[in-house]
Formats: sequence, structure tokens, C-alpha cells
Amino acid sequence: MVRQREVIAELPAYKQGATPSSADVFKLSSNENPFPPLPSVVASVVEALSTIHLYPAMSAPAISQRVAEKFGVDVDNVAFGAGSVEVAAQLIQASAGTGDEVIFAWRSFEAYPILVTVAGATPIAVPLTADDAHDLDAMADAITPRTRLIFVCNPNNPTGTGVTRAELERFLERVPADVLVVIDEAYVHFNRDENTAEGIDFFRRYPNIAVLHTFSKAYGLAGLRLGYAIAQPTVAANLRRVAVPFAVTDLAQRAAVASLDAEAELGERIDQIMAERGRVSAELAAGGWKHSDSLANFVWLRTGAQTDDVNAALTEHGVLARAWPGEGIRVSIGSTEANNRFLAAMATLQPTP
Ligand SMILES: *Cc1c(COP(=O)(O)O)cnc(C)c1O
Repeated sequence: MVRQREVIAELPAYKQGATPSSADVFKLSSNENPFPPLPSVVASVVEALSTIHLYPAMSAPAISQRVAEKFGVDVDNVAFGAGSVEVAAQLIQASAGTGDEVIFAWRSFEAYPILVTVAGATPIAVPLTADDAHDLDAMADAITPRTRLIFVCNPNNPTGTGVTRAELERFLERVPADVLVVIDEAYVHFNRDENTAEGIDFFRRYPNIAVLHTFSKAYGLAGLRLGYAIAQPTVAANLRRVAVPFAVTDLAQRAAVASLDAEAELGERIDQIMAERGRVSAELAAGGWKHSDSLANFVWLRTGAQTDDVNAALTEHGVLARAWPGEGIRVSIGSTEANNRFLAAMATLQPTP
């Protein structure tokens, strides 16, 4: 028997949203963008196909330049990965080794504890408040001399709750300057809370902030895998050092540039998704369902003990959602048709008090 690390065998596998079994089944389990890629984005990828016999440019020059310009930072501040989940892994590997601690809220993005454990560091999961929000006071209390990294997921996956500017400022007063705080903004385009803690704003004001962005959600490039961190040059350089070489393809780089060229068009789609979120949310509220005022492209139903029943009704109606038995269900905002199906399924049930 070959010897393997025991902690790895014990890890829960990252659970992908279920795959639809037929065209009449709606997958609302992975927070994907319901719109197909824009023709201009497809064209850029098709063009790039003629060079897939070559390795991609590891420094991702064109997209680095564009992201740097967009946020008014230097290209030295930007580091890419095959999805922001890879960049999160880089951040952990560059910051925390055996015996070091990484703090995050829980429940939050399920990749955090897996990536921390794989890196050999210790995950410190701090329960959310009763309102399913980050408990930043408890997270500050959890800081020890071994703390190296803290994730703040804003808005939080799967609860859709946000962190305000004032809350994050107060929290950062208690975080030692040598501990990196990563603001994971995978859903930032769907967050219109004017009091929100905007990652890039905090990056400019504090030396120990890194911002994590992705092209998977609002830009609709989940299948091509591209995410990035904006961080201090020393941190960004270390992210490049630990990155898997050539993980970011030229196809992904070109599609991202084409997406930044099409921000106005993509913005209209984001507006439509947000309008649907408002409609879905209002209907759920009218039906008496407890759910968070989501700042992201999904809603979080606090179904508690009723979770399995609700999920069964959704499945029966051809809606695949992400359920955590005993806790709640996360349902992505999809096409109008998919959202209608979701609401129709919910209308067949009564919330238990
Ligand atoms: C979806 C998501 C990501 C992004 O994943 P990619 O690897 O960029 O596709 C990152 N963080 C959170 C919280 C997410 O929900």
C-alpha cells in the first residue's frame, strides 16, 4: 500500500452542482451565468484556437494590462490563476504552512477548508451570526500568533449576506498588519449595497489586503477558468511563484479581454439577473419563505429541518439546487423560465414556522 497523507483521504470532495439529466431540467446549483457567451467572446476564443499547439504566455500580458487599467493599479499588483479558486489556493500556499492557521466564516465557500488542509495548514471556521452574516468580532477573537490569512467572502456564498465598510474597518483595527486579509468578491457585480466594503477601496487603504475576482460569474466564463488577485507586489510575486505553470490558457486570457471590451453588453445581462433576483425574492417573501436579501446571483432559503422536503419538491419540478440538510438551500438566479419553475415548485409547499 503506497503511503498517502491521511488528512487528504479524510477531506470531503468538492461537491459540484448536479448535472441536468434532460433539457427540461434547470441547473440552479452552481451560480453560473444563465446567458450563453457573447458572439464577440466566442469569436476571440475561436481565433485563439489556431495557436493551441503553443503554451500560453505565463505572464498573461494583455489581460494583466487591462485589469490593471480597470482598477488603476500596476500590473505588478495582479496575479492570475485557473479560476479564482486556484488563486485562493496560491494565497494560502504563499501564506500558511504546517501549523499555521487560516480563518474564514462558516458556512462559506466550501473550497476554503479543503484548500487550507491540502496546504498543510489548519482551517479555523468561525460560525456565521444568526442572520447568516460574517461574525467579524468572533473572527477577530479567533486570531492567534499562528494566524496567517483570513478570508472575508463578500457577499458570502452561500448566504448572500454582505460586509459593510464600517464593519470591515472595525475588524481590520483588530487584525495584525502581518496577517493577509483576502476579500473574495466572486459576486461583486451583483452587489449594489452602497455601504458595502469594496475590496479595491480597502486594498488602496490597507497594506495587508488582497482582493479576489473571477471571470466565472458575472462575465460568464466559468468553463474557461480565469480569476485573479489584486495584492501588494511582493504578495502577487509570490502567487506567481506558487502558481501551477501554464494553468491559465490563452483561450481564457483572450476571452477575458473580449469580455472587458463588452462590459456594457454584459452589464445589461447583470441588470436582468438582478431584476430577476428582485422578482424571485419578492415572491419568496410573499410565500412566507425565510431567505436572505441576497447581494449575489442566488438566493439562500433558510429551510432548516424542512430542507430535504423543499429540495425534493425542487427536484420533482426539474430544478437542481444546492441543499445543505438541516440548514438551507441555495438557488441560483437563472433564466426567467428557470426561475418560474423554481417559484412554481415553492408554491406547492408551505413554510413550516
Ligand atoms: C464561484 C466562486 C469563486 C470562483 O470560482 P472560480 O474558480 O473563479 O470559478 C470564488 N469564490 C467564491 C466564494 C465563489 O462562490
